[in-house]
Amino acid sequence: MAKKILLLAGDGIGSEVMAEAEKLLIFLRDEHAFQVELESGLVGGAAYDEIGSPLPEDTLQKARTADAILLGAVGGPAWERLPFDQRPERGLLGLRSELGLFANLRPAITYTQLADASSLKTELVAGLDLMIVRELTGGIYFGQPRGIRTVGGEREGFNTLVYRESEIERIAHAAFRVADKRSKRVCSVDKANVLECTELWREVVTEVAKHYPGCELIHMYVDNAAMQLVRQPKQFDVIVTTNMFGDILSDIAAMLTGSIGMLPSASLNDQGKGMYEPVHGSAPDIAGLDKANPLATILSVSMMLRYSLDQAELADLVNQSVHSVLAQGLRTADIFTGAGQCVGTKQMGDAVIASLGAENSRQSA
Ligand code: NAD
Repeated sequence: MAKKILLLAGDGIGSEVMAEAEKLLIFLRDEHAFQVELESGLVGGAAYDEIGSPLPEDTLQKARTADAILLGAVGGPAWERLPFDQRPERGLLGLRSELGLFANLRPAITYTQLADASSLKTELVAGLDLMIVRELTGGIYFGQPRGIRTVGGEREGFNTLVYRESEIERIAHAAFRVADKRSKRVCSVDKANVLECTELWREVVTEVAKHYPGCELIHMYVDNAAMQLVRQPKQFDVIVTTNMFGDILSDIAAMLTGSIGMLPSASLNDQGKGMYEPVHGSAPDIAGLDKANPLATILSVSMMLRYSLDQAELADLVNQSVHSVLAQGLRTADIFTGAGQCVGTKQMGDAVIASLGAENSRQSA
């Protein structure tokens, strides 16, 4: 049966990078017998302008019935003064909570050809390929009680770090399932020496690991993990951690790779349904100029093929094509360092498809 993918371009460069992803999906459908049905919807500022809501009911309905969702980006200066609940970002948060997307997957991959764009020495990052699995809907960002109160005549701010066993179990399972498709090593990051909540985290992750005898589990305190990420990042394969630790560690890992225009992400629920999106925002400074790097979105398509649509071979093909265009020296402005050819959004998207086509002919020869 055909898989249904909902395309939500959103705002700014969202529509430009989405156009390249859509061309790619159509190519896979027509040339690789990938049975897929593509639908589009409005989200973010674009949806607010047309319907008066950043997450119209029609979009939500389509998202509920889709097998996977691909999102471009939302937001921009035009909507910054709107009331909080009408801002474009509410569209994104609404989709996450409505679909129960609790597992955020952020790969950090340093392409050998781009290793000199990293802030670390080339030999430390070239060939880096790690995956951070961050718990996205619980922990200290959502725990109650929270607030600012006055105690003994002075103000005090307080938040609550809380995880239920079931929340830890499901994110641990998600991480081990990802590791199963990679090199089967999981590092669980906590602060179990200081925080009881993460002492429980450590216990539960250790229990869940027993269901995956082929996978190796180690534990690391978050301060050490931050240090190890910049000291020797290639020691990691899959890192699983809490919402706040994951927020911080995934940004450190992102910097290892050089450009935000290269970073895909996925947010999954417990049925494997996912929303896939580039890590970057709507980049109003370059919107409409054919300057945006579409590779983060194209790599998000690859993640979608692997994690929600059970098409690992097609995902590998897309990844190979991205490697191939980089090896040919093609660069969008954000990753152009002087060597090779600087190209626009459309040319980069076309090159990935051409490379897929070349791979097709090579395989059928
Ligand atoms: P941004 O990621 O949009 O841009 C930061 C910088 O990176 C800019 O200089 C931009 O030109 C560049 N950049 C981003 N993506 C690029 C790409 N694909 N190719 C080349 N260069 C790229 O972050 P920002 O400027 O802080 O935010 C702009 C808007 O996007 C804001 O409204 C913000 O709220 C929103 N935002 C949305 C998301 C999302 O939709 N998931 C994420 C972050 C920010």
